[in-house]
Amino acid sequence: MPCRHGEPRPGAVTVPLERDGMTIVFREVPALVCENCGEAFHDEAVTAALLKQAEQAAVAA
Ligand SMILES: [Zn+2]
Repeated sequence: MPCRHGEPRPGAVTVPLERDGMTIVFREVPALVCENCGEAFHDEAVTAALLKQAEQAAVAA
């Protein structure tokens, strides 16, 4: 849940995703980053794309 103290600003973050016991790290993922607490928020399209990539990586491994 977003805090209400900061203004989210466009940025890029590193997102670790755990799947089937392995962690896949995505770098430079577009996000809105809260300038107050540093928490990052992704829109649904970005989240869906990450999950899809994680799934493909899990299949390939
Ligand atoms: Zn915040």
